[in-house]
Amino acid sequence: MLETNEDPTIAGEKKVFEAINNNDSVLLKVLLTENPQYVNILDENRMTPLQHAAYKGNKELVRTLLDQGADVKLCEHPHNYTSLHFGALSGNTDVCLLLLEAGAKSTELNTVGRTPSQMAAFVGHHNCVSIINNFIARKDVEHYTRPHGSDNTPPLPPFLLESFHKFIMQINVHPVKVVMNLHNFMGLQEHLKEIKKVLELMCEKEMHNGSDTNEVMSFKFHYLAYVVGEVDKVKQRQGQIDITETFAKKLLKPGKDDSLEFMDAFLKECIREFPYRDSTLFRQIVTTLSREDAPSALFVIDSLINGQKGFLDNVPHCNSCGEEKPAKKCSKCKVVQYCDRNCQRLHWTWHKKVCAKLCQETADADSVRAAKEVDIKELQNLLVNN
Ligand SMILES: [Zn+2]
Ligand SMILES: [Zn+2]
Repeated sequence: MLETNEDPTIAGEKKVFEAINNNDSVLLKVLLTENPQYVNILDENRMTPLQHAAYKGNKELVRTLLDQGADVKLCEHPHNYTSLHFGALSGNTDVCLLLLEAGAKSTELNTVGRTPSQMAAFVGHHNCVSIINNFIARKDVEHYTRPHGSDNTPPLPPFLLESFHKFIMQINVHPVKVVMNLHNFMGLQEHLKEIKKVLELMCEKEMHNGSDTNEVMSFKFHYLAYVVGEVDKVKQRQGQIDITETFAKKLLKPGKDDSLEFMDAFLKECIREFPYRDSTLFRQIVTTLSREDAPSALFVIDSLINGQKGFLDNVPHCNSCGEEKPAKKCSKCKVVQYCDRNCQRLHWTWHKKVCAKLCQETADADSVRAAKEVDIKELQNLLVNN
């Protein structure tokens, strides 16, 4: 064996990067426990172990490094790709979430002016776009559970922290789903006014946050505040009835050409009420919606928050709440899809009017398919007999 004169520090540092390269989180943990000073080192490309682990999309490596004190904000990469940029490029949502929870900033720009979520969108990792764009640190919500200014009562009652935090991190922004969440997350439906107020404060903060200004998040908070406000109006008018049903019925009512024109008008009104009309984001929305081939307002809002998904828009959605890849379909027509019985119930008022017609259409399609199958059989027979 050849003797090397390599500096033991350099050799030790190399081992750290090798362990990451080999996805060996057990060895990595041993190395860092013995040599904690190696956790925030740089390699010859000025990349940290955490940046490498994030780029590999390996949750265990990332968790090990963070547990051992890796600095999520340390970035000397020549093109200013942060750990979160690398996590976003890896496509692993768990890695992105770990980095965000450790304090990674989603507004950091690389040298070509792209945020981590924009890089994720660029390479088609739409789940990472959603995770990053909808992430809110718990401490940013906790802030509202303490008294504000001269007022001694906190804007957000502390017992709502858990529910409210979950509510604002939801990725599915379909208005029916938002209303369902208000009902499902404990305590929210009874405190609509407080929730609306906190969301308005958060909307304002995201818009005036210096270099951390986040227009998308500001819009999301405005959007949620608007829906909560509308639910509150219905509640004031009608009392403690099934608000979700009343709302879903109103929003899902089909207009001409079966388009959801009531929901579209509702969402456009929400956009019009966005208080920051000079923002780049507002002008972008208005430009998109005034195009001749303008998409629906729901599509615009969803793309804004969760990124444009291109061909993925062909994935099936629940006809009530917009959830992707729902588990069930209407047992009669077998055309429209739902998450569960509750989603079907919310849509039934409108669907029952077209279900029979759809049955007819699928029956026809079945007979066409049956006919085709016969043709294939005949062809096979033909092949056999030849
Ligand atoms: Zn659903
Ligand atoms: Zn049906």
